[in-house]
Amino acid sequence: MADIYTFTEYEKETINILKEIVTIKYGSYKNFKFKKEKYIFQKAVYKEVVLYVPQSFNANTVEAYLLKNENIIYKLAYHCLYYKKIEIPHNKILYLGRLYDFKLKPEIHNTYKIDENNLTIYSGRNLLHKDNLLKFYHQQSSYIFPARVRMLAEKIKLDIKAVKTGIFKSYWGSCGAGIIKLNERLILSPLNTIDSIIYHELTHLLVPNHSKDFYNTLEKIYPSYYKDHIWLNLYMPKEYPPKIQE
Ligand SMILES: [Zn+2]
Repeated sequence: MADIYTFTEYEKETINILKEIVTIKYGSYKNFKFKKEKYIFQKAVYKEVVLYVPQSFNANTVEAYLLKNENIIYKLAYHCLYYKKIEIPHNKILYLGRLYDFKLKPEIHNTYKIDENNLTIYSGRNLLHKDNLLKFYHQQSSYIFPARVRMLAEKIKLDIKAVKTGIFKSYWGSCGAGIIKLNERLILSPLNTIDSIIYHELTHLLVPNHSKDFYNTLEKIYPSYYKDHIWLNLYMPKEYPPKIQE
């Protein structure tokens, strides 16, 4: 039988991400049903989003259902961890969610040139060495993050006192006494993912805790919060700087 639904390229991409998030289980069910379930991976307990699907439904119908429930899925997966891992070849650099080529250019000394169109980073020092790469990430995050926070704060008319960056073990960001702290590791993730963390912290200026009111306010300020946040759950490398392939 021919497929009932046809998808645009953009929709196909979205479906592929949703398939990374949702585990599909076929069985003798009457209808679709989402559930959050525990699973064990390398002796640790994780949570994942499961979609139960009636045996008779074909793959195309399942894809259409995933797409229709996109926002529900991102929200369900908010506290789930996946570690799908991005494979980083030994000659590439993960930066703002994309893989860049590196080219050594001794004449530019200790500075960097980032060509976003050709996905190439130039530098006078070899960024494929761990220490140099860390310096690069450090410089980029301390330059991009404060500017970004100020821009977004202005957009929603909130006042902040200061922005700090650092390497923190257990959180992506924090907010207290008007000071916003952001984890340097976020420099590995796409800009819209960094924005989701910034909006989360800015919302804490309005609602300090993680109550329902907090998330409602956050969603109003930044409707794609869950969607943009999911990259961290799916792809953020465990190590910093990220491990590269041998
Ligand atoms: Zn928070």
